[in-house]
Amino acid sequence: MIENLMEKYYGDKLYDYNLPRAEAELQTIIDFEEKKGELFVSISCPICYEKPVFSVHKSRAGCVGQCLCCGTIYNYIRLSDLVTSAWYENFLPGFLINPKIRKDDWVRRPLLNNYDLDVIESYTDVGNLLDIGACGGDLLVYARERGWVVAGQDLSKPCMYVLKELDIPAVLGHVHSTMYQEASFSVISMRHTLEHFMYPQTELRVLRHVLAEDGLLYIVVPRWQEYFVEKNYDLPQHLTHYTLESLDMIMNFTGFEVLLLENAECSRTLIDDEFKGIYNNIRCVARKK
Ligand SMILES: [Zn+2]
Repeated sequence: MIENLMEKYYGDKLYDYNLPRAEAELQTIIDFEEKKGELFVSISCPICYEKPVFSVHKSRAGCVGQCLCCGTIYNYIRLSDLVTSAWYENFLPGFLINPKIRKDDWVRRPLLNNYDLDVIESYTDVGNLLDIGACGGDLLVYARERGWVVAGQDLSKPCMYVLKELDIPAVLGHVHSTMYQEASFSVISMRHTLEHFMYPQTELRVLRHVLAEDGLLYIVVPRWQEYFVEKNYDLPQHLTHYTLESLDMIMNFTGFEVLLLENAECSRTLIDDEFKGIYNNIRCVARKK
């Protein structure tokens, strides 16, 4: 049934979703900012706010370095906020573009999403769940089936369209510019989202405020590894490249008690034995202090 729903809503109408127009819009913004000389900005460490950095990687999409004070790996030169925001505004998840990826995802999605929900429910009762970086809304579709009251947030307009079609309440925009009421949610989930945040400490503090007393944060991020160099560090969109240590640090700095912090297997292991034992993610469950 879910597969049919996915087929219905992720079908052809999104396959051609104004991709050329979205790319043209983004290029216009990049050209404009470039003329002003503001395409790139230099920033200090997102965790300790110090500036000294040991440069490890430079490319046209930004520069990655390791903070000499706390060890965090982050992009010390990155695209400006305006360009980054525009990037996400037009973002189309791969499964909305490539029908083959979509098909594989239909096999993987129920397993992956229900696995994440199993972990969340091992720490708390079913309640209300906000998914940041809600993307195509699939975690929320499965959560709703399990009794959760769900809401989503994302920067992508195409994703808003999908969430609306799925009848999932959703907000477009950055976390720090959203006016949720205090203590609105019992759980906030962010899967492959935190590494994209421009100001992770600010965003985490806002989310802490929005969480109910003893509310939980559920996080999955890519785990920094040497091979990130080959992948060009997923620049320009990944801004902080987390390790167990740096994720633990930022959780503590922003008022969370870490309940679970582990290297997590690649999600593909759920359907493909070939990927078994590849621990390329970090999973974290943290409670509001
Ligand atoms: Zn630092």
